Amino acid sequence: MSKLFKGTIELANGVKMPQLGLGVYKMIDPEQTVEAITYAIETGYRAIDTAAIYENESETGEAVRHSGVSREELFITSKVWNTDQGYDATLRAFENSLEKLGLDYLDLYLTHWPVSDKYVDTYKAIERLYDEKLIRTIGVSNHHAYHLEKIFVKANVAPMVNQIELHPYLTQEPLRAFCKENGIAVTSWSPLARGKLFAERTLLQIGERYGKTPAQVIIRWHLQNNLIVIPKSVTPERIRENSEVADFELLSEEMNLINSLNRDERTGTNPDMY
Ligand code: NDP
Repeated sequence: MSKLFKGTIELANGVKMPQLGLGVYKMIDPEQTVEAITYAIETGYRAIDTAAIYENESETGEAVRHSGVSREELFITSKVWNTDQGYDATLRAFENSLEKLGLDYLDLYLTHWPVSDKYVDTYKAIERLYDEKLIRTIGVSNHHAYHLEKIFVKANVAPMVNQIELHPYLTQEPLRAFCKENGIAVTSWSPLARGKLFAERTLLQIGERYGKTPAQVIIRWHLQNNLIVIPKSVTPERIRENSEVADFELLSEEMNLINSLNRDERTGTNPDMY
């Protein structure tokens, strides 16, 4: 049985998004970034999650071009940063991102944070990009249910993805249920809680049963919850490790044990701050 996970999730318009991707936040060193992304694609990753604010869209584009994998097989996500929100500014920001990436379309473009008074206009601009077929799917990030409800009133096409902080210390069950009811797939950011979970006995014990690391157990928990998951690593062995999760399955009691680690604890900002 192959260890490499290659599953997809079908989004509301029928496009299939890889369920496991590489996050590239805090990949700062240009050479290391190109190497890490190229390695990930060689390993079998087909989705890369970048953002204008990460300042590595050029390196992402370079890795995509050098990977030898055709553009159509890859799923590239980027996000409009807070200072570029509003209708016209978002359209300009998208053009900049596309230019830096050296691509002529994106697979998914997201509002990075719901900047108050602007996020609905930002979404309307992203909707225009979708209508113009410059992006294949459309979504948001860090939106609570009340933000999404405001968007539903104004939008012709509902968001297909909401990318939120989500891991066993922050399981986000109410927001996940809301997204499910509304046909929105959820992507987990900081899926490993940036390493804070690795010493958890529950995860170590479950991992021992399958010969897997805590990181692999956590990634498997996201996948079995039908979440899209984008762990970040610049380290080749970890990039590979994080994708070798297709050869075991957590039992429902193990899923429940991991669910019970929830503390509603964020590693990042609460979206209400914006
Ligand atoms: P993660 O939870 O993915 O953790 C990343 C950290 O864990 C890094 O320090 C990495 O180290 C380490 N790590 C990764 N794999 C392993 C492993 N197998 N064993 C041990 N350590 C490991 O945190 P992120 O905050 O980076 O989140 C992932 C992605 O989510 C981001 O890269 C970004 O794409 C997205 N994101 C989106 C946000 C949003 O607002 N929409 C906000 C934050 C993140 P190293 O790299 O040194 O190997």
